[in-house]
Amino acid sequence: MTERTLTIIKPDSVEKNNVGAIIAHLEREGFRIVAARMMRLTEAQARAFYEVHRERPFYDDLVAYMTSGPVWPMCLERENAVVHLREVMGATNPAEANEETIRALYGESIERNAIHGSDSPENAAREISFFFPETDLV
Ligand code: GDP
Repeated sequence: MTERTLTIIKPDSVEKNNVGAIIAHLEREGFRIVAARMMRLTEAQARAFYEVHRERPFYDDLVAYMTSGPVWPMCLERENAVVHLREVMGATNPAEANEETIRALYGESIERNAIHGSDSPENAAREISFFFPETDLV
């Protein structure tokens, strides 16, 4: 079943000029880009996006990191998109991510881990609408 998910190319990847390589990797994996933008998150946006983590000890650091530079949110489409993106992305900690996953290739720490990927279809829907109005999904 064709499905949509949300990725964010995170500030460490933009800083290191890895945006093109990461998009190429995703395209090779059969994802079609349905919407994309480059932006700098405000603190309020980062706090709202990661609301589920507000009680976690790393929440403030995560917000500071995600607002430290530009990011690229993208809506991606393919069969089984949510699960496939999680596989291609790799474990949260790049040191534990499978070889050749995006986080293994481009991440540098459990926080600065290259990209975000929605963890369920429900969260994908919420996260896509966080960044893109329905009319921007092409
Ligand atoms: P994900 O679904 O693999 O992105 O992982 P989570 O939803 O658990 O965490 C969201 C994001 O918070 C991660 O992608 C990291 O950028 C950051 N993060 C997660 N765990 C830690 C941690 O233990 N320490 C720090 N500093 N950041 C973390």
